[in-house]
Amino acid sequence: MCEPLAGRRRDRGASMLSVDQAVAILLERANRCVDREAVPVIDALGRTLATDVVAGIDVPPADNSAMDGYALRRADWSPGGPALPISQRVTAGSAPGPLTPRTAARIFTGAEIPAGADTVVMQEDCTATNDAVRIPDLPAPGANIRRRGQDVERGQRVLAAGRRLRSQDLGLTASLGLAEVAVWRRLRVAILSTGDELVEPGRAAGPGQIYNSNRFTLAGQLTAWGFEVIDLGVARDEPEAVRGALLRGAEAADVVMTAGGVSVGEEDHVKAAVESLGRLDLWRIAIRPGKPFAFGRVGDTPFLGLPGNPVSVFVTLLIIARPFLFACQGREGGRVRPLPQVAGFSKPGGTREEYLRVRCGAGGLELFPNQSSGVLFSTSWADGFVRQRTGEAIRAGSTVDFLTWALFE
Ligand code: AMP
Ligand code: MG
Repeated sequence: MCEPLAGRRRDRGASMLSVDQAVAILLERANRCVDREAVPVIDALGRTLATDVVAGIDVPPADNSAMDGYALRRADWSPGGPALPISQRVTAGSAPGPLTPRTAARIFTGAEIPAGADTVVMQEDCTATNDAVRIPDLPAPGANIRRRGQDVERGQRVLAAGRRLRSQDLGLTASLGLAEVAVWRRLRVAILSTGDELVEPGRAAGPGQIYNSNRFTLAGQLTAWGFEVIDLGVARDEPEAVRGALLRGAEAADVVMTAGGVSVGEEDHVKAAVESLGRLDLWRIAIRPGKPFAFGRVGDTPFLGLPGNPVSVFVTLLIIARPFLFACQGREGGRVRPLPQVAGFSKPGGTREEYLRVRCGAGGLELFPNQSSGVLFSTSWADGFVRQRTGEAIRAGSTVDFLTWALFE
């Protein structure tokens, strides 16, 4: 449940929250709000684990051969000694008997090592007939044998709750013999675009109109994070239109998110609508782009009000909203850690934390020339952000905080 913001925070008036403060407050208010469900491992890609995955078996379950060759007991071999008779043939999937003393077993990759054998010689290093094998030299003890449990030992925790499952995690889970995993239900996020100026792509844009891009940025990114998107479409700049859409969103989703309509103009109706349906805290965050940000509840459903400018939407979605949404989903890793990278540009420090669109170049990170919040092309051009802290001067050749898009997956 959302607690009212502490008075001291509400009373700050013109002062701005830092990005770290804003994220910390949001995280204090974030609760996982989804139930767990069991899904077949084959369908679990991109889902968030609700419980640890613990191995119930050793992998591999028994010592097995890493080579096609011959298995023997070292004590049965001597330099220049006689050929060893071949007493059995062990293929992958078969169950070998114990090794007869003073013999060798023909063995194939993945086949279990017969009891009593301690060495596998690869076939390329032997001379064999159908019945016997001559082994000129022995490899080191244990060579060419994959030990029981060398991959995973029974009882080992291989994946932790809160992890988003990748393809290799599905393979690992399957290797333990598990057919299902417990995951959190996908978080449902309702999105609403606001503005009388918006027209949908595919239609002719009339005078004063622009195409709705935020809807696509939001739907795409939320889907990529594994959430279920409930698209509320566009609300006109009228109180009733905004209220109606917010109510529909709160009914259907775990979190309601809007873009636009949260700044100070008379045509910004989102704030009043949220206030009338629940509660609202309007923040000014010391971030560029993306300063106005609204947070609250529509009924009991958490509400995030992003700014309207397309780059502000992208920045606040990745930097401010993402940690909150991940926490609601029960997923770890909502806050990203930047990588040190050399700047190929200089830029004086400012009064807000800036998220600069940059690209990797031979001489260091390159800055997109127009960093305006309306220049969405910068985000497609770029490989990531440079996070420029308030007051931090960047000089060409200095090390900066780089946030490559891959960190936000
Ligand atoms: P607002 O906060 O509603 O005043 O919007 C700020 C700026 O973002 C205005 O220039 C809007 O036209 C623009 N904007 C708002 N919503 C969208 C949208 N969905 N797609 C593209 N631009 C938008
Ligand atoms: Mg607007």
